[in-house]
Amino acid sequence: MEEHKGGLLLVMAHPDDESMGAGGLVLRHTRNGVVAHLICATYGEAGWMGNPPGAKAEDLPEIRARELEEAAAALALSGVELWDYPDGGVARSDQQEITQRIWEHIGKLRPRVVVGWGPDGGYGHPDHVAMGACTDAAVAAMTEGDRPALYHLAVDKPLAEFYQEAMRLTGSADGLPLQPQDKVDVLIELDADEVMMKLRAIDCHRSQLEGWRIAIRDHPHLMQQGYGREPYIAVSTRTPGLTDKGLLGEFA
Ligand SMILES: [Zn+2]
Repeated sequence: MEEHKGGLLLVMAHPDDESMGAGGLVLRHTRNGVVAHLICATYGEAGWMGNPPGAKAEDLPEIRARELEEAAAALALSGVELWDYPDGGVARSDQQEITQRIWEHIGKLRPRVVVGWGPDGGYGHPDHVAMGACTDAAVAAMTEGDRPALYHLAVDKPLAEFYQEAMRLTGSADGLPLQPQDKVDVLIELDADEVMMKLRAIDCHRSQLEGWRIAIRDHPHLMQQGYGREPYIAVSTRTPGLTDKGLLGEFA
């Protein structure tokens, strides 16, 4: 299916990473007719927060798989690969096998751009760190002519401040161990419509909506600061890479 080649490939660890972390980037592409695919390493079965009411912890893999399916539709993803590495145990899994599987998918989908977690794992989540390292290795192993551009999700100062302020709203602990970057390479700024579309995708992950994600809805400036800005670091670029518009150069 030639029309499903090219575009964007996200390589994430948990169902919800794609919407919460890179929903705006995906929407920028899919709304402009550029295909986007997702690899998700785990079913997120460790993220049990007692939701939805009446559900049991052992239902969570099935619940999260369904939520991911809904979010994929909201983001207009062309395909989702949901793998069953253990949530919280990606780093203990066979790194070579994961790298090989990512490499095979890059070879099959031929994305122009791969987006993954950086060494900071966003907020240090070991699954993110491990998945990011495997993604970097898989991209590096592609022969030069086939190698897509590679970007990492990043946290910059305003985004770090957003998390602190948002979590303060619900009195959540000390926040996340964020490592904000002084300088990012691509900053995608979403307009109000795009923030709403991204929110719709995030909201599909009903089992994972912490109190602060609900509380920020009464604070439009926080919504814009947190959901309306997506910073990325360029690890290796080639033309056409991402532009300031958040789109692959050839479509910008
Ligand atoms: Zn995650």
